Amino acid sequence: MPERRAIHERPAAPEPLPRPVVDAHCHIDMRGGEEDALSPEQALDLAAAVNVTGIVQVGCSIRDVAAAVAMAEAHDGIVAAIGIHPNEAPRLAARGELDAAIAEVERLAAGSAAVRGIGETGLDHFRTREPEGHATQEQAFRAHIDVARRLGHALVIHDRDAHADVLRVLLDELANGGLPEVVQFHCFSGDAAMARVAAEHGWFVSFAGTVTFGNARDLHEAAPVVPRERILVETDAPYLTPTPHRGRVNASYLVPLTVRRLAELRGADLDALCDDLHANAVAAFGTFR
Ligand SMILES: [Zn+2]
Repeated sequence: MPERRAIHERPAAPEPLPRPVVDAHCHIDMRGGEEDALSPEQALDLAAAVNVTGIVQVGCSIRDVAAAVAMAEAHDGIVAAIGIHPNEAPRLAARGELDAAIAEVERLAAGSAAVRGIGETGLDHFRTREPEGHATQEQAFRAHIDVARRLGHALVIHDRDAHADVLRVLLDELANGGLPEVVQFHCFSGDAAMARVAAEHGWFVSFAGTVTFGNARDLHEAAPVVPRERILVETDAPYLTPTPHRGRVNASYLVPLTVRRLAELRGADLDALCDDLHANAVAAFGTFR
């Protein structure tokens, strides 16, 4: 019953952007706290009203990957990225199901033109603390890199408290077989030095609402370092809601708050930044129809 969903309890829509942009990482179908998930139609309509005209829908558990593909196939404006989240990888491995799960991701990705990315994959040393878990995450990360490389899809990276190890794996893969053409640091959480490493290698750096937080000094310093042809913006909704709605439920229509903060931090013209963000999303993920 989509009409019963309580859109009115969500943050008010910000001022629309002057030019269209894309939300480069979102979980449309996840509940945000007490708030039911938006339907894809609601998410797209609210976003379009503020000039957010495309969404990368990320399915990142074995339960969610097929639904993400189906959602993208059914909706103009939505494309999918699918993978096994680094925090799910150890749980699947403990049941002997990790290899089959990654094989299922590859099967779905190869079978649908609506899938444009593999992930989110990577390392999460914040939620997974045991060394065996880290080893399993790395094994899954490398397997996802291999799938993305062979299918020619974008690699969508989740990196939480694991910057050095994520870079070590990427550089090792680069030297041994190569990386996919498109690499996206989803919800970038590094500093200016790490943004420079990404720039050297032509990797996309994707900023979420965290860059609007007052205490995010590393991100404030990283934002101006990213080349204009490699910057992306995202929500990671329903999480990481930008200021001034921090703590409430996020959705793609709140991306303008993050775009405006990025323009300030970069000293960029807002129209030009929007055009770059849109062009970069298409370069990374293809057309959003
Ligand atoms: Zn995510």
